[in-house]
Amino acid sequence: MQRNLHRKRFFRGIITIMSLHLLRTSPLIACAVFAAPLLFAVACAGAASGDDFSADAPFVNSAVERSPVSNLALPALPDGTTAIPAPAGTDCDLAILNWAGFDGAASYSFDDGQPSHVAHWPELKATGVPMTFYLTPNMHTTSSDAAVAAWKDALSAGCELGNHTLRHDHYSAYTADTANADVADCATYIQTTLGGSASCSFAYPYGETNWKNNFGGRFLFARTINSGTVKPLDSTDPLGLPVFFVDAGQTHSAFNAALDKSASEKSWVIFLFHSLLPTDSNWYAGVQASDVTASIGHAKRGGNIWVDTVETVGSYWLAQKTLSAVVPTGNADAKTWTWTLPAGYPSGKYLRVTVSGGTLSQSGVDISWNPRGFYEVSLDNGSLSWRK
Ligand SMILES: [Zn+2]
Repeated sequence: MQRNLHRKRFFRGIITIMSLHLLRTSPLIACAVFAAPLLFAVACAGAASGDDFSADAPFVNSAVERSPVSNLALPALPDGTTAIPAPAGTDCDLAILNWAGFDGAASYSFDDGQPSHVAHWPELKATGVPMTFYLTPNMHTTSSDAAVAAWKDALSAGCELGNHTLRHDHYSAYTADTANADVADCATYIQTTLGGSASCSFAYPYGETNWKNNFGGRFLFARTINSGTVKPLDSTDPLGLPVFFVDAGQTHSAFNAALDKSASEKSWVIFLFHSLLPTDSNWYAGVQASDVTASIGHAKRGGNIWVDTVETVGSYWLAQKTLSAVVPTGNADAKTWTWTLPAGYPSGKYLRVTVSGGTLSQSGVDISWNPRGFYEVSLDNGSLSWRK
C-alpha cells in the first residue's frame, strides 16, 4: 500500500534549495528561469485536460457492447467497416487473438475496500466497465452496511471482489497459521457475507509477496505493487503481476498515456488505485474519481483497449498460453486440440480465434463467426475441432 517517498522528497528538497539560492543571488534570472516552464506547464495542462475531457466525455457512461456468447466486450470495427467477413480459405492456420481482439488491455483495481470507493461506486458503475476491488474486511468501514450494499451491487455489475487479507497487517506480524487464516477469512467474507464466488485473485498487502507461502493453491493471480505490464505469451509470474502504481494527485493525462502505451505495445496494464477524491477518507494516494472515469472514457473512445477485471483479462492471457502450447491431432483435412485448464481456473471463459478457412466446432456444434472478426471458443469444453 505505501511506497517509499524518501527519494522523491530528497530531489524536491534539492530543487527547493537551488531555487532559494538562485532567487537570493540573481532575482531577475530566477524569475525568467522559473516563470517560463511554469507558463509552459499551465498552457500544456490547460490544453491537455480540455481536449481529453471534451473528446472522451461522451464515452465515459456510454454502453459497452458485448458478445452474446462470451459476454466479453467487443472491439471496434475498422473505420468504414460494418462487418468483417468470415474466413473463406481452405487451410486452418489457427490463430488466437491477443487480448480478446483488442490492441491492449487494462484492469482498474482498487485496494483496501476504502470508504471512498463505496462513496464513488455509482460513478464507477455508470462507466459499465467491470473493475477489481481488493477487499480487506477488517479495515475500518469496509464491512459497513453501505459498503456491503455497494460490494454486492458491484458483484451484480460484473465486478471482481478480490482477496487483500482480513486485516492487512505487515507479513512479519503473522505466524504461518494466522497468515493462512487471514487469507481464508477474507475469502469467507467475500463468499458468505457478500455472496461472491471464491475469488481467484489476490493483492499483496504492502506489496509483500511472502504471502505466496499461504495461498495453498487458492489463487491463480496475485497482484504486486511493482511497475510493469504483461504481454501476450510472456513469462510473467501470474502470482507476481505488475502494476501502474497510481500516485497522489495523478490525473487522467497520466492514465490515458498508460492506456495508449498498452495499445501500442500490445500489453496489459493493471492500474492500482487507492483513495478516490473528493472524500474525507483520503487514506492514501488520493486521485479525483473524475480522472479515473475520464480515463475509462478515453479507453472506450478508441475501441482498441479491452477494459475488464484482473480475473477476466488474466484468465484470457493464461488460456492463450495453454492453448498455444497444444499440438493438435489429425491431418490437413481435420484437426483436434484438447487441453486441461489449470486448477482453480474460473468457468465460463472463452478465447477468440481466427482461421484461414474451414469450420470450427466444439462437441459437434459448429461455432458461428462473429462479424467483429473472430470465433469464440469455450474453454470449459476442453476440446476444439476443425474441418476443411
Ligand atoms: Zn492495501
